[in-house]
Amino acid sequence: MPIQDKYERVIDYLRISITDRCNLRCIYCMPSEGVKLIQHKDILRYEEIIRIVRVAADLGVRKVRLTGGEPLTRKDLPHLVAAISAIEGIEDISLTTNGLLLKKLARPLAAAGLKRVNVSLDSLRPERYREITRGGDIGEVLSGIEEAEKAGILPIKLNMVPIRGFNDDEIEDFARLTLKKDYDVRFIEFMPIGAQEIWSHEKYISTEEIRRRVDAIAPLIPLKLRKSGPARYFRFENAPGVIGFISPITHHFCGSCNRLRITSDGKLRPCLFSETEIDLKPALRSDTPDSEVERLLRLAVEVKPEGHSINYEKSFTHLKRMSKIGG
Ligand code: SAM
Ligand code: SF4
Repeated sequence: MPIQDKYERVIDYLRISITDRCNLRCIYCMPSEGVKLIQHKDILRYEEIIRIVRVAADLGVRKVRLTGGEPLTRKDLPHLVAAISAIEGIEDISLTTNGLLLKKLARPLAAAGLKRVNVSLDSLRPERYREITRGGDIGEVLSGIEEAEKAGILPIKLNMVPIRGFNDDEIEDFARLTLKKDYDVRFIEFMPIGAQEIWSHEKYISTEEIRRRVDAIAPLIPLKLRKSGPARYFRFENAPGVIGFISPITHHFCGSCNRLRITSDGKLRPCLFSETEIDLKPALRSDTPDSEVERLLRLAVEVKPEGHSINYEKSFTHLKRMSKIGG
């Protein structure tokens, strides 16, 4: 029986941050000097992550997404992917990455069972990409994406966060990509969390505005038969790719939220925008049976809030950064 929370949402999705380290310093995510990192000894070991997923799968979890920090920087990642794929009940394993190391890792990851990948890409212009990421080489990312396509990790989802004055003049370029490529291009609203350095109301762009601009290129056709998830999907007529809008600020998707998050140091977070955390590490690092891990997972489901109150007028920069929670 799948596990349900008190608002009758079926919880079948785990997003696991496997590291808080990153090989980039995107301006809206991290300060240039980086952030204070979790000590190595406190980061969950692969066997601990595998144990959590095994117990969660018994509770009805079917999908796992690995994220970070930058998940591809963690050693022997294909080993973890293979172990999670082999867990009975897990039907889907995916990854969110900046794509810098995909060229080398796409094939071993596909062989290990990776089904899908989301690549975060906030500019298509090499100079600007370098600026936004503070040093990233877009050439590496593009060849990583190509390699993932060749390895059959499909569909490729590109996540772009439009920020006014930084990259919003590329919204149309990203949308037009779907006329040539069968990518899912998804626009995500800039969230006022963790981005103390650059967040301001003026830089935030609503989905409504992004959508209006995309629709001005050619009429967007809504896609009804898309799987559940936070994105609402559209396409241009005859386009191979699709366009998605993710609106954490203007259209909360809390009513259909099916996920729990786990930070790289083993804290269960029932909601991205709530600081409630349940520490799994004491149970994992002592001689406790799986039933205790199960109890903590059930507790996280039980305390999962009905929704969040984040909006673009209120700053949530006190919340942990996405690189810490696992975006
Ligand atoms: N390093 C990987 C990457 O960049 O895809 C995975 C971790 S990153 C924290 C996950 C996602 O969080 C990225 O798509 C990034 O754009 C997004 N993100 C980080 N800070 C954000 C913010 N303040 N608003 C919206 N998205 C944010
Ligand atoms: Fe690193 Fe991803 Fe944050 Fe960029 S968005 S700094 S790649 S964790």
